[in-house]
Amino acid sequence: MAKYVPNKRNKNRKPNQNSNLNKSNNNKRASKPKVKEPVVKEVVFVKGMTVSDLATAMRKPVAEIIKKLMFMRIMASQTQEISRENAELLAMEYGCEFKDEVITDVTRFEEMEIEDDPKDLVERPAVVTIMGHVDHGKTTLLDNIRNSRVVASEAGGITQHIGAYQVIRNDKAITFIDTPGHAAFTEMRARGARITDIVVLVVAADDGVMPQTREAIDHARASKCSIIVAVNKIDKVGANPDRVKQELADLGLLPDDWGGETPFCNISALKGTGIDELLDTIQLVSEMAEFKANPKRDADGTVIEAKLDKGRGPVATILVNNGTLRTSDYFAVGSTYGKVRKMTNDLGEVIEEAIPGSAVEIIGLSDVPQAGDPFKVFKDEKTVRDIAEQRANKEFDAQHQDKQTLTLEEFFKQQEGNLKQLQLIIKADVQGSIEAFIGSINKINVEGATIDIVRTGVGAVTDTDVLLAEASQAVIIGFGVGIPASVRDLASEKGIEIRTYRVIYEALDDIEAAMKGMLDPEFEEKVIGEVEVRETYSVSRIGTIAGCMVTNGVAQRDAMVKLVRNGIVIHEGKISSLKRFKDDVKEVRQGFECGITLDGYNDIKIGDVLELSTMKEV
Ligand code: GDP
Repeated sequence: MAKYVPNKRNKNRKPNQNSNLNKSNNNKRASKPKVKEPVVKEVVFVKGMTVSDLATAMRKPVAEIIKKLMFMRIMASQTQEISRENAELLAMEYGCEFKDEVITDVTRFEEMEIEDDPKDLVERPAVVTIMGHVDHGKTTLLDNIRNSRVVASEAGGITQHIGAYQVIRNDKAITFIDTPGHAAFTEMRARGARITDIVVLVVAADDGVMPQTREAIDHARASKCSIIVAVNKIDKVGANPDRVKQELADLGLLPDDWGGETPFCNISALKGTGIDELLDTIQLVSEMAEFKANPKRDADGTVIEAKLDKGRGPVATILVNNGTLRTSDYFAVGSTYGKVRKMTNDLGEVIEEAIPGSAVEIIGLSDVPQAGDPFKVFKDEKTVRDIAEQRANKEFDAQHQDKQTLTLEEFFKQQEGNLKQLQLIIKADVQGSIEAFIGSINKINVEGATIDIVRTGVGAVTDTDVLLAEASQAVIIGFGVGIPASVRDLASEKGIEIRTYRVIYEALDDIEAAMKGMLDPEFEEKVIGEVEVRETYSVSRIGTIAGCMVTNGVAQRDAMVKLVRNGIVIHEGKISSLKRFKDDVKEVRQGFECGITLDGYNDIKIGDVLELSTMKEV
């Protein structure tokens, strides 16, 4: 390699004045008048961006961003995803304007946000799902509400099962999702669909809170729905509504007449007692929430049910979330598409238009979508076909990529750049184990991390646990419980970790160790030296060799490098070789010359400053 001969012109130049690096034992960055950070005025937040992506967007060193986050009591590594909230806080800190990415990629239509003119917004019906333990009366309640409506309707028609139906009370509609069962609900939620506004939790007054009651509460809470409790079967001898109230209050659903926020209605789904009051309560809750939509725009919605009908081909029930759906509209749905050939409402009537908050069965799809798939109207056939094709390709790619498993070890890395929260689902053979486990887990105290128990239950790990784990990003912990093979398969398909233990302390040890181990070490960037580029040589196969002078501190072979030109960091990376004359060396001290090549970077110019640093764990 060519020997480095300092440029005559620069030879007697005074060392760079930024020599305060060596003063005191600081790891503070030198405040160099020359090395000014570029001014970034605007930061665009992209969903899923990592701490390092944000640093790049703000043109700030990652280490600085990590440090700033640490001051905000947020432990984050550079590969971690950063939440919108924290990104905004950082932007404020730097005085940058903060904006969301505007999604113009139509293939991601479900993420696109269209702002409506407030003038166009009208009230839309609340969308309600009925949940609860088996045999507590969900089906009876749904039937009762539906039948009372049919009797009242002029049409006197027979309601069709299309997966949802509407009830009019006090001239206002309520939409009921007619698919009781938690599996459907969770499946949809796992697919990212959030269609329900309100969950009516049915609890039989003669039976009280049962495992699926708890499960329903977990689901409703996890999807941030309002909960209304319907205490059912009050006509039965032995019914004890107050006991149900007490049990639910113990689970955090404090009745409104006890000063809490959860409305309770006593009903008999069989006899029809209290149904009107229940409907009124639903309307009250939705009035307070003010559900609004814009009927003037093209429709978007969610698939509630879909099937292949022998005679009619693919059929889907769509809940219109916003806009108005019309016959002959072209739409993309999931990874397929179509044109509305015929729309039928829940009374079996053929209709031309469906407004927000209503559910309709449509035909005219080119394939069968899945429950929970997003739906959106576009202007022509070519657009929807292209979108469907691209989405299908993406889906194929995603399926063929290695599924990232949600494991205790990996969990924290996937968390947002936030206070880390480990979500757990606990299944045990006896209630006592659960209580003991929760009692002990509350004592685990690891700074920067918390544990959230999404649900607990007695009995084997079930499909619903896995789906809930998927939807809530949780790890399942089992004590002395079995895992049926089908559940195991589902878990591995969904990438959910199920850990089983025989004794509680082993689980506690693992969790604590994992939390500690997973906490990213706190580290700081320590600037160790600065060199000035005084000559450059271009050598084939090697690239650009920079002839440098160490003007401050020390240059180390394994240091990280920031290439600063006219005060702007234009490259960050590593040194690939450090030489004194012909020899590879580990370090070169202040006042000496050296030759440096950068790893994968050749655009080095005379006058550039290389700022060298190392990361130190504190
Ligand atoms: P689901 O499993 O929650 O859908 O429960 P079902 O609606 O199938 O009801 C289970 C059983 O409870 C049926 O035999 C119903 O007739 C009965 N049932 C439902 N509601 C009431 C009620 O209000 N009073 C009485 N006495 N029985 C009811």
